[in-house]
Amino acid sequence: MPRRRSPPYVLTASKFFPPMPKSDAMTDTSSCASDAPENRALSAAQARERMMAEVIPIVGHEFVSVRSSLGRILAADIIAPHDVPAHDNSAMDGYAICFDSLSASGETPLSVVGTAFAGNAFSGLVGKGQAVRIMTGAVLPAGADTVVVQEVTRLENGVIFVPTGQRLGQNTRRAGEDLMHGAVALATGKRIGPAELGLIASLGIAEVDVKRRLRVAFFSTGDELSSIGNPLAPGEIYDSNRYTLHGLLTRLGAEIIDMGVVPDQPAALEATLAEAAQVADAIITTGGVSVGEADFIKETLAKLGQVKFWKLNIKPGRPMAFGKVGNAWLFGLPGNPVAVMVSYTQFALDALLRLSGLDPIPERPLLTVQSANVIKKQAGRREYLRGQIVAVDGQWQVKTTGNQGSGVLRSMSEANCFVVLAEDCAGVQAGDAVQVQLFDGIF
Ligand code: AMP
Ligand code: MG
Repeated sequence: MPRRRSPPYVLTASKFFPPMPKSDAMTDTSSCASDAPENRALSAAQARERMMAEVIPIVGHEFVSVRSSLGRILAADIIAPHDVPAHDNSAMDGYAICFDSLSASGETPLSVVGTAFAGNAFSGLVGKGQAVRIMTGAVLPAGADTVVVQEVTRLENGVIFVPTGQRLGQNTRRAGEDLMHGAVALATGKRIGPAELGLIASLGIAEVDVKRRLRVAFFSTGDELSSIGNPLAPGEIYDSNRYTLHGLLTRLGAEIIDMGVVPDQPAALEATLAEAAQVADAIITTGGVSVGEADFIKETLAKLGQVKFWKLNIKPGRPMAFGKVGNAWLFGLPGNPVAVMVSYTQFALDALLRLSGLDPIPERPLLTVQSANVIKKQAGRREYLRGQIVAVDGQWQVKTTGNQGSGVLRSMSEANCFVVLAEDCAGVQAGDAVQVQLFDGIF
């Protein structure tokens, strides 16, 4: 059909990917091997563990300016080149004094001998019986060890009166209190957010050594898929998964390579996978992983590389192939749009983060809240429903968002969390405690 993308290359898969040695049991997908490890449905925990054990971070890195490092991952430790703060300074507006000047029994009069501003220090000495007016951030003058806040003092004719009850060192910030010269300010593997940008700038560092971006190629598979801009023929649907993945991978900070739509033809799939493996660290496909006639991702993957597993004991997203083509990791996600988002966020995401160099991979918190509605479920597999957390009478509750079909993207769009029901859960009554995973932070 003319609108289908014909691959703009002539590479053949075999040229780049000689058959894997058959001694690797993982590659055997013949029917008599239905009991082979990759044919078993793994639990979510097993699948995650397998993926995380397999993938290792990419090694390339580059130097970028501080601002451009937002969202990037550090490729080397950032060492403090000086103490932060660099000098003892005042944490408040007030008077810098020598604590020994204060009388234990009553108000102490101190004569004000000067002013210290942030960026314009008082160069003299604060002697006994003296005080220097000081602003927040100003360097603590020599001789002073304590700051008395302005509000508790009384000023008369150049003399302040300080009440009892002051503590040695109060309202001061010590040099090196944030970071000592030579300390690791930020460790390799840290993702740079707004706080890190500020911290790096506070060290006077202009260029940051970050991991190169992860290169992720992706494409949709399916004869029924049409691209936006074309009218839909009977039986066709628009390809939405590539747009969702565009969003997910852009949020991840990856360099994305959109390879379009590939028809359900083994030769086209082989050629596209081969091309993708040449240019990417990871490949994400959607569709073609269930056991239907045209579901051939697994077969092609086994032919070109290795299938580690392709069946998960979850809903939605039961079929999900994980394997390797050449040096690229392959995540063969299901076709259904919601299943794409579930399998990406629950499995592919952390593997991609590890590949990108993030270390440690953050725990994803599950929060316990009350279910506002009944949820039907049979025990045996883990389920991810789309939910909306709402405050009811000061208490957080979650309600599921309408039709939970794995093709219904609206249920994702209306949701702000996944309701995660464990394998042994056999249904939920309104008011039962359930676990939710907030979307914030996963995409
Ligand atoms: P499959 O996994 O290929 O059997 O696809 C499962 C379901 O997801 C089918 O109803 C497909 O039409 C649908 N689907 C597959 N790929 C896409 C896509 N890229 N965009 C939207 N729906 C899709
Ligand atoms: Mg399909």
